[in-house]
Amino acid sequence: MAGVDFFRHGGLPVPQVTIQEAERIAASFFPGRTVRAQPLGSQQDSNFLLTEPAGAVAGVLKIANPAFSAAEIQAQDAAAELVAAAGLRAGTVRHGPVTVPVDGGPALARVLTYLPGGTLAGAGRYLSPRVVAGLGTVAGQVSRALRSFTHPGLDRVLQWDLRHAPRVVDTLAGHVGDEELRGRVTAAAAAAWSRVEPLAGQLPGQTVHGDVTDDNVVCRVARGLRTPDGVIDFGDLTSSWAVGELAVAITSVLRHAGAEPCSVLPAVRAFGELRPLSAAEAAALWPLVVLRAAVLVVSGEQQAALDDGNDYVTGALEHERNLFDRAMSVPADVMTGLILAELGLGGGPLPVPSGVVPDLGPNLGPNLGPNLEHCAVLDLSVQSDAVDEGAWLEPGLEDRLAAALLADGHDAVATRFGEARLTASTVLTGVSPATVATGIDLWLAARVEFPAQLTVSGDGTRVHVSLPAEGAPEVPPLVRPEYAAGWLSLVADPAPLLGLPAASPPATDDLLNRREASFAAVQEHYYRDPPRIERGWRHHLAATDGRVYLDMVNNVTVLGHGHPRVEAAVARQLRRLNTNSRFNYASVVEFSERLAGLLPEPLQVVFLVNSGSEAVDLALRLALVATGHRDVVAVREAYHGWTYASDAVSTSTADNPNALSTRPPWVHVVDAPNSYRGRYRGSESVRYSGDAVRAIGELAASGRPPAAFLAEPFYGNAGGMPLPDGYLAAVYAEVRRHGGLAIADEIQVGYGRLGHWFWGFEQQGVVPDVVMVAKAMGNGYPLGAVVTSRAIAARYRDAGYFFSSTGGSPVSSVAGLTVLDVIRDEGLQANAARVGGHLKGRLEELAVRHSLIGAVHGSGLYLGVEFVRDRGTLEPATEETAAICDRMLELGVIIQPTSDRMCVLKIKPPLCLDVAGADFFADALDRVLTEGW
Ligand code: PMP
Repeated sequence: MAGVDFFRHGGLPVPQVTIQEAERIAASFFPGRTVRAQPLGSQQDSNFLLTEPAGAVAGVLKIANPAFSAAEIQAQDAAAELVAAAGLRAGTVRHGPVTVPVDGGPALARVLTYLPGGTLAGAGRYLSPRVVAGLGTVAGQVSRALRSFTHPGLDRVLQWDLRHAPRVVDTLAGHVGDEELRGRVTAAAAAAWSRVEPLAGQLPGQTVHGDVTDDNVVCRVARGLRTPDGVIDFGDLTSSWAVGELAVAITSVLRHAGAEPCSVLPAVRAFGELRPLSAAEAAALWPLVVLRAAVLVVSGEQQAALDDGNDYVTGALEHERNLFDRAMSVPADVMTGLILAELGLGGGPLPVPSGVVPDLGPNLGPNLGPNLEHCAVLDLSVQSDAVDEGAWLEPGLEDRLAAALLADGHDAVATRFGEARLTASTVLTGVSPATVATGIDLWLAARVEFPAQLTVSGDGTRVHVSLPAEGAPEVPPLVRPEYAAGWLSLVADPAPLLGLPAASPPATDDLLNRREASFAAVQEHYYRDPPRIERGWRHHLAATDGRVYLDMVNNVTVLGHGHPRVEAAVARQLRRLNTNSRFNYASVVEFSERLAGLLPEPLQVVFLVNSGSEAVDLALRLALVATGHRDVVAVREAYHGWTYASDAVSTSTADNPNALSTRPPWVHVVDAPNSYRGRYRGSESVRYSGDAVRAIGELAASGRPPAAFLAEPFYGNAGGMPLPDGYLAAVYAEVRRHGGLAIADEIQVGYGRLGHWFWGFEQQGVVPDVVMVAKAMGNGYPLGAVVTSRAIAARYRDAGYFFSSTGGSPVSSVAGLTVLDVIRDEGLQANAARVGGHLKGRLEELAVRHSLIGAVHGSGLYLGVEFVRDRGTLEPATEETAAICDRMLELGVIIQPTSDRMCVLKIKPPLCLDVAGADFFADALDRVLTEGW
């Protein structure tokens, strides 16, 4: 053996080099320059960051462990060059090596390139799926770069080479003082090795870096996000199993905040795309992770024993134990099934053994088997009618539904194998609950004999039946959706053995592809990889995998999703009559009266339409016709709709990147009155109205007095910012002075959401000439309205036309009336004030602790959390906001960015949000801002 041999040397003490010595050594590499040395942590070499007096980094001084031969060092440096040549950043040699004396004898010193950007280290930090994939990509690139590299310096035996893991664990296990832990670690290593050993002959070997981990992978930081793009520390370079490179990399993911076994899958996939894994390698991967985790625990304990009382080492120990527990938290068989499925190498439920059904038929009791017509199948999925109106949250629902079917004359009731049950789910969970059935639950009217192959548990009338593969670990009746592919690869559908139809195999979900095929690119969707949401209840949204999300986005469903009163009223009216507003019926009149009654004089004439865009379009038509003017003044960074006229006054570049350059000549824009980051800030923001008044005056002076000034009366697109005091009073007065109308877009902010005010214009103490309403009016049923004065409406009669086939129809009117009734009866405006006030307080407290929060805007349940990279420059944290929204989804919250800079979390949930929901949101956000995104 030319190189180091762990089993001969034991642990390698780091060569002791003082800062002065390091600086002396460094001086020989930089003649005539002064360089300072700053110690960097390391496990086996002695490393120093070298800086010049002006602060420039000169490189990293590395004094190799004297136990390493010159050939080993040469091999590491050559490997670094290969990796760098493959396009990754790598710590390559800049100066040296030279031989220097250190305490353990002569050692090789050299200066390596310093790679800025930082590593992924820090167990408290969250690694996003994107970053984990980046880690897998780096491991894959390293693996490819080194695949045909050979060198005499690779002839060494390392503690970290997974081929030696069982021996390392045996050698070091004695250092684990905690007997229980020692037992678990040695047993886990032995069990894992018994899976790897039979595959060993099929695992290709090559040169591996051996330590492509969070600690050694460096990142490029751009726009607030880290992307792994390089690797340092080739000290563990050796020849080993190629798949070990990946196993080591993904084990390091498990150390991080919020990580669990399935968190590593993006890295597995990314690695596999660069360096395809065979089925044998995929099968060995998780056992190798367990072995790596076991080696880390025993090595850490050894280190702690050598270095007693070192807090850093004791802290690291805690992380290694944690990591080991996480690696063991899911059976290896399940992880292997999951990995195979992720790589497209297999997975999926076991096939039911063919030919078995007829043979076993006679074993079945009289009530099962062929008597299919007497067995009812109970649908407990998100799409089941049996879970309507939040019934899924009632304990015992499954038993009650089954009992009712048995009472109805069925001999048996069976659930479905592989189904994600909403009945197993619950609300406000940061981690997905176990919802996917690995067997079948049966309720039986009479006792039956079950085929011997089946695992049967339970008593009374309810039994659980499953068909696990031979030797499979114990399979829980319900498993989490993230792991379903793994668990289901260990069980077969027992239904055919019971004479029931087999569950249809899980369809590959190609909904997004189909969507793309029939949608235009401009029709966006939330999230790159969105959950499929098919049910809502109050402020909760349920995906087809049974995960329930807190909905902080749906401002249209003010009452909450699936409100029974709206459903009942609309259904009743649909059965009875649905004509149009040219007929004479009561609901359209009652609804118009109710709307007018909510608005101050002289706003008493109501036009009913079907959407906000239509309402804005109609309001602009009213203004043009009523005033005879042709021009309109709107504010920047606003959205008002997609129809021709409403789009013309929409200036938000977040909605339309060309919004400002494509305004028709009749639209004139004034500054967004943004008191946080606009031209005027804070107390200066009162100056916005002066500028707007001047712009209107100039327009009039140029012979083009505007027909209208149109704006949201509370600045929605900015995240719910009040307009500067007196803004609308001044601007409305000026536009009216020139014969124009004051138009308020209450589509987002009106209807009680602001809590303290039913309408946004009340906050400004003004009364507009025309008000548009939509969104909240129908709780999701399409409704919109324009309300104006009799005089203005009368002028429209002279030159305009209005009829909407469904605007104000009996069903629309009943929907609108019911929504108003519920807002009143359930006190939702007061709830918005109370819960919104609580939530705003919580968010303001977060802003004290998290510097990314620049401001918390808003009122009631229209709030905005604005993220900035710097509270001085207010540089928008756009990419961070997107990443935070993705992380919030993982934690069970649906929230999206807004503003032209997309750096504001737009908080506009159903108005039934309660304090528990608000706290869940604030806690999740606190966690994301603490752990990262
Ligand atoms: N005005 C404002 C302020 C809006 O937010 C929206 C919708 N986002 C609209 C008008 C257009 O409404 P709709 O989508 O119903 O056409």
